Amino acid sequence: MAERLRIEARSGDTVGRLGGDEFIVLLGGLSNAKDASPVAMNLLSQFAAAFSIDSRELMLSASIGIAIYPIDGDNPSDLLRNADAAMYYSKEQGRNTYSYFTTAMNKDVLRRLLLEEQMHGALDRGEFRVSYQPKVNVLSRNIIGFEALLRWRNPELGDVAPDEFIAIAEQTGLIVPLSEFVLTEAINKTAHWQNNYVPSFTIAVNLSPRQFRDPNLIAFITEAIKQSGISNDSLELEITEGVLLSGHAYIKEALIALNDMGVKIAMDDFGTGYSSLSYLRKYPFDVLKIDRIFISDITVDNADRDLVHALIAIARSLKLQVVAEGVETEEQLAFLAEHNCEIAQGYLFSKAITAEQITEILEAKKHL
Ligand code: C2E
Ligand code: MG
Ligand code: MG
Repeated sequence: MAERLRIEARSGDTVGRLGGDEFIVLLGGLSNAKDASPVAMNLLSQFAAAFSIDSRELMLSASIGIAIYPIDGDNPSDLLRNADAAMYYSKEQGRNTYSYFTTAMNKDVLRRLLLEEQMHGALDRGEFRVSYQPKVNVLSRNIIGFEALLRWRNPELGDVAPDEFIAIAEQTGLIVPLSEFVLTEAINKTAHWQNNYVPSFTIAVNLSPRQFRDPNLIAFITEAIKQSGISNDSLELEITEGVLLSGHAYIKEALIALNDMGVKIAMDDFGTGYSSLSYLRKYPFDVLKIDRIFISDITVDNADRDLVHALIAIARSLKLQVVAEGVETEEQLAFLAEHNCEIAQGYLFSKAITAEQITEILEAKKHL
């Protein structure tokens, strides 16, 4: 890689390796910012050909970020930070491309840094809470169980959405203790609700890809269930296709081990990613959750209606329980009932609420 980069750099330019897979190319004497563009394209062209290593052909890609002195920084650390932000932007664009730094990127980077900083110690400070969204039987509308959803309220940042902080927690590794917190809370609350209200309640907990690298995952779940006294099949673990994409053997092994224990495995957000039907066969799924973007349009968009109809049929023939996410209207619910979707979740019934609120509702129902 270093050799190829050096070939493309002009004489007088500097090519350096910052560490790991990061390189820096210093281009002196540009007459204007645009002149960096052909250099970047030439650098990228060096990745079109495979690398031969130990008689194997490897394809590599590169993502380039460009920061210009002095407008993007008049000192090395600012320039490096901003080039880095632009490089991340290129990665998000699908790699093998280059991007100039813009101030909007800077805002993203600053926000990220701020979140990372505030997240440090937030679990110990009690800033995280678990909230619960009821899942209901489509026909009877009775609550059959709950999905545990993590909430973060920080004194400085206010409420931060999980879509924003989960990704960062995954990168920093905080996801492991954070998830142990969610699992413990959710399982213990469910034990309480089963013992006092409805013994058949189930609890669904989301798992991130990173957690499957935690060798302690299964032991932790086993112990948490044992301590609480709920049965293994009361717990449902939701994973997205992202977990399976890497194809690592240990993920399949973990899913099979959990499934053998009786823990249920749900495919979350189905329809948004690759929606690979082979995954549904290859891994031990029990539940298919149809993503809310399809549900939101079933009463207005014919294509979505047909798609949801087909998904329900596929799930049923694979003997999977079907859950519709994001049900917001009576019309949507009627469609789902008509097409034999068993379980629904969404604002039509309830958003995610605190454990105390759930207990109040159950208590009120008990005295009806
Ligand atoms: P998800 O697992 O697909 O969770 C469902 C999301 O849809 C939740 O957003 C929920 O509040 C929202 N939702 C439910 N009903 C409706 C509806 O009728 N309309 C609309 N518009 N939205 C609805 P939330 O809580 O912001 O969570 C977002 C995502 O963050 C989750 O998506 C999940 O992937 C992730 N997440 C949340 N908690 C955890 C956690 O403890 N661990 C991990 N690994 N991920 C989590
Ligand atoms: Mg989920
Ligand atoms: Mg979902």
